[in-house]
Amino acid sequence: MRILLVEDEEYMAQAVAQVLEKNNYTVDLAHDGEYGLDCALSGIYDIIILDIMLPGRSGLEILKTLRQEKIAVPVLLLTAKSETEDKVTGLDLGADDYLTKPFEMQELLARLRVLARRKQEITVQSGYEFGDVLLNPYTLSLFCGSQSFKLTLKESQLLEMLMDARGGVISKDRIIEKVWGFDSEAEDRHVEIYISFLRKKLKALGANTSIETVRGIGYALRAGRA
Ligand code: CA
Repeated sequence: MRILLVEDEEYMAQAVAQVLEKNNYTVDLAHDGEYGLDCALSGIYDIIILDIMLPGRSGLEILKTLRQEKIAVPVLLLTAKSETEDKVTGLDLGADDYLTKPFEMQELLARLRVLARRKQEITVQSGYEFGDVLLNPYTLSLFCGSQSFKLTLKESQLLEMLMDARGGVISKDRIIEKVWGFDSEAEDRHVEIYISFLRKKLKALGANTSIETVRGIGYALRAGRA
């Protein structure tokens, strides 16, 4: 599970991140609204924890943009006691849950477990669909028409990122961070190898969906033959 924590109180954000990491979440931090929005739009997160009062852009603006872009990632809002109205607006804008600061870490962990289950349910029901292909990341199956292939875990994770981005560009660094982990020794060539495996499988399925190389940046899915 990869979590984005957007919180401008850096000391508190570090402390929360440490506890989350001890509980086997991978955490990326953003300390202002602009950077938070950029990260959130990358589409690589399983859960986003959003503080409301942020420099740059507010948490509510980030949430609104995410939902406008049809990014259905579960969002947990962090609110101050005085922000009751913001809380209501946040839920109306499509937040999944909120926590009032200060909060107990056990409470946050419990809420995250619920959101993680919700994310899984959304994905299991619908899978990921892009162009003429469909991915079920829980059975590692890639479908096109009546044909299907089994993927390896890494292939599935990589394709899931690309499908979740809905045609947006995903950088090689992001792929390494999410699929191999921050501390891994993985390099660009590992990503290139897995991209080539996926391209072969898409071709073998006769799919019209392809993986485009965006020179100097990364990869994006394209519907329609390359
Ligand atoms: Ca704040």
